[in-house]
Amino acid sequence: MSTSTDPAREQGLAIVRTVADLRRTVAAFRKAGQTIGLVPTMGALHEGHVSLVKGALDRGDVPVTSIFVNPTQFGPNEDFAAYPRDEQGDFDKLQAAGCRIVFAPTKDEMYPGEQLTSVIVKGVTEGLCGPLRPGHFEGVATVVSKLLLMAMPDRAFFGEKDYQQLQVIKRMVRDLSMPFEIVGMPTVREADGLAMSSRNRYMNAAERKTATGLYRALNEVAQAVRGGAACAATTAAASRALLAGGFDKVEYLTVVDAESLAPLERVAPAPARVVAAVRLGRTRLIDNIAA
Ligand code: AMP
Repeated sequence: MSTSTDPAREQGLAIVRTVADLRRTVAAFRKAGQTIGLVPTMGALHEGHVSLVKGALDRGDVPVTSIFVNPTQFGPNEDFAAYPRDEQGDFDKLQAAGCRIVFAPTKDEMYPGEQLTSVIVKGVTEGLCGPLRPGHFEGVATVVSKLLLMAMPDRAFFGEKDYQQLQVIKRMVRDLSMPFEIVGMPTVREADGLAMSSRNRYMNAAERKTATGLYRALNEVAQAVRGGAACAATTAAASRALLAGGFDKVEYLTVVDAESLAPLERVAPAPARVVAAVRLGRTRLIDNIAA
């Protein structure tokens, strides 16, 4: 690992903590004629995050990963304090993946002084997780805007795992004419289908076994509605099956338009997505697939 002042000439991962250092380091790569791919994360990295770094490398970008557990996107009763943190483990994984810059700022570096400005995206935030997590997408849109403006990448990489978040960011970038390409990357799953998530470690062994049922349910719904079944009846039956299978709560299980996220009664002709949020013990799981 390196903290050199000319990281573009070195191998390995440059660790930067301040916006000024981030800009200096990115500038060194740009001067060497390279493009920049930003991967915003909250750390506790797994193969899903690593796939985003690989996505940047595949496009020829210098990968820049940010690690920041953003307090403004957590509600008062959510898991901000408990959210897993493993900075050294994250740096090791990023180094192994070929990431070149990691930006790991403090809260004061991200939010110096009183913040009077935020980014609100309407429409795509009004359903699904929006009403269940008030302020969440405002926190996400604002921190992602800040990270984009700090790194000024050519592209930024986001997982389809957080499908609503991906649509929010795409819409924000379009509406604010931000000069960044937003790339959505496929969800990376465990062998049994569970979408990888930093929060999966909250589950005990029994819950982890039950959790597999979510991906199965999404696939069953997708297959049925693709075959012409009515969405509402299909998702209602699948929700009941999830509860019977050991989930504690189905916050939503819905078929939506893949871009506007408006609920659909029938799939076709536009692309659709089956999206779900469920609770299992103290863990909240979200997942989605194409319908
Ligand atoms: P997080 O650290 O949870 O905020 O996630 C950072 C980025 O990684 C987001 O763009 C997520 O959508 C993405 N991500 C998280 N889990 C996965 C996964 N299993 N597959 C692909 N991308 C993921």
